[in-house]
Amino acid sequence: RTVYLNGEYLPETEAKVSIFDRSFLMADGVYEVTSVLEGKLIDFDGHLARLERSLNELDMEKPEAFDDLLEIHRKLVELNDIDEGMIYLQVSRGSAGDRDFVFPDPEVVKPTLVLFTQSKPGLANNPVAQKGLKVISIEDIRWGRRDIKTVQLLYPSMGKMAAKKAGCDDAWLVEDGHVTEGTSNNAYIVKGGTIITRDLSSDILHGITRAAVLRFAREAQMTVEERPFTIEEAQGADEAFVTSASTFVMPVVEIDGAKVGAGEPGPVAKRLREIYLEESIKSGI
Ligand code: PLP
Repeated sequence: RTVYLNGEYLPETEAKVSIFDRSFLMADGVYEVTSVLEGKLIDFDGHLARLERSLNELDMEKPEAFDDLLEIHRKLVELNDIDEGMIYLQVSRGSAGDRDFVFPDPEVVKPTLVLFTQSKPGLANNPVAQKGLKVISIEDIRWGRRDIKTVQLLYPSMGKMAAKKAGCDDAWLVEDGHVTEGTSNNAYIVKGGTIITRDLSSDILHGITRAAVLRFAREAQMTVEERPFTIEEAQGADEAFVTSASTFVMPVVEIDGAKVGAGEPGPVAKRLREIYLEESIKSGI
């Protein structure tokens, strides 16, 4: 696999980052995941805009190659012959050659920019979407700036492990009695035809797929309500689903052992998945 590191395209075994890099020592880094379908980048502009926002919120410098990111993504797709898959991008505050809580001087220390591809044949036709996910709920004890896409992913990883241990696929995070989001996706329920998902704030990541899916839902005359909901309300809903760049729209069929609706993927989730795939491939670049 050919990867990108600070201006160079390299075999993955030759791409080396300092042990003093702040993403390694302090989780001082932000990332984006953009999916590739039919060789095209999906929702690229949204991911780029969120990356810029994450950098701003953390007073992190833009990497020198920021304006070339589209070209870099395209080149990696080409070099690695990706038809379906993902591109992972990470920017860290770089390495000052020592460990220090104080941010290094941005005039001296430049950000580290890394990109790599992951080939995932069958991503769009994912058989999991036919079955749906089983989720458990766990307390959301993450930090309070979940709107910034940082590489602090230990708690979401622990959530996935807890789900796995319980024989499930993923975890929904609950704070003050209400669902914030999934470990790596935004969470939705459908009741009486209305799509309900938590409103945007620093409590959740502002999903790029979420924005697109809600736009498509409104264009298709579906009703959308942006507000928090509880696990009990979700268990009593007609349908549930999650969205993310790597799973698109993915039905949820069970929450903490209780079947949602008929316990199988519902019509709204199925339709939104179809619309999202069709429209986002059409506008892919
Ligand atoms: N929420 C969290 C915590 C995530 O990690 C992700 C994606 O990784 C999402 C939501 C979905 O965001 P997007 O649709 O931009 O992939």
